[in-house]
Amino acid sequence: MVLCNFCPRSCSIEEGKVGFCGIRTCQNGSIVLLSYGQTTGLAVDPIEKKPLNHFYPGSRVLSFGSIGCNFNCRFCQNWTTARSRDLSQLQIAATPEQIVEQAKRFQCQSVAFTYNEPIIWSEYALDVARLCRREGIKTVAASNGFISEEKRDEFFDLMDAANIDLKSFSDDFYRTYCHSWLEPVLETLRYLARRSRTWLEVTTLLIPTLNDSESELELLSRWLVRNLGAETPIHFSAFHPAYQLTTLSSTPVQTLFRAREIAISAGLRFVYTGNIDDPAGQTTYCPQCRQTVISRQRYRVDEYNIDNESCCRFCGQTIAGQFEE
Ligand code: SF4
Repeated sequence: MVLCNFCPRSCSIEEGKVGFCGIRTCQNGSIVLLSYGQTTGLAVDPIEKKPLNHFYPGSRVLSFGSIGCNFNCRFCQNWTTARSRDLSQLQIAATPEQIVEQAKRFQCQSVAFTYNEPIIWSEYALDVARLCRREGIKTVAASNGFISEEKRDEFFDLMDAANIDLKSFSDDFYRTYCHSWLEPVLETLRYLARRSRTWLEVTTLLIPTLNDSESELELLSRWLVRNLGAETPIHFSAFHPAYQLTTLSSTPVQTLFRAREIAISAGLRFVYTGNIDDPAGQTTYCPQCRQTVISRQRYRVDEYNIDNESCCRFCGQTIAGQFEE
């Protein structure tokens, strides 16, 4: 029996068995990551797809993931891999060296640990991230933020950017629909905004009737302003029926528009919609002069008005994020 301390579940894993996430086992009294060095697939994406709108906009990212998760979300949009315990799905061998080689080959500025929860395969992700650092490639984590306090520094020290899912602002929702709990996620968000150098953006998937009430969105937005700062970008994205919630409808676009209005009224400066066609909701406006600094069509950057690495070309206002000329 061994205790895993990677996430707040603190699973006690018996010899030969796996923890809640399905890919960490106990062999001869030690934790072994069953998915090390293997992936379900690699893809070259625009960075906007992670989604990150203030981290080298328009650049390419090499994305890869694995199987398993430390949540069990009834609405999981990636459930075929995240809920899988079938190691035969990991068909592609990908050592850290091979990942970096592919990133260079496809001229990717960064590598993303994504598709399923990278915290549960930290040993593998961090070996890739270390090599990326040495080779001048940025690293990105798309994560639920459910990591133990003792592992936070080690993991995020090697991440240049993170998009953290804030699945709801209700602990009841986390317990009922994710088999998890909220506080460690809020703690990770505070940590990233206040005590790390990782660039942070937040995503909330809006699920009809479950987490989309105006009162909850107001509370969530005010919490973000107070705890992370008004300049932290938030993405409200559309749910599509999946996994155990196939009887619900997709998120109406009006819900996403309304969420954006609520967050802007609460004081957030960079509020985006996602998974829908909404050029206005995917545009970055200068918080000072209101001009368009970056316009996008879905994941494509159409207009780019940032000078001196981070300044609005029209008024010189600094735009939060990490940019190139
Ligand atoms: S990472 Fe996996 S095995 Fe470790 S505590 Fe979390 S769910 Fe359990």
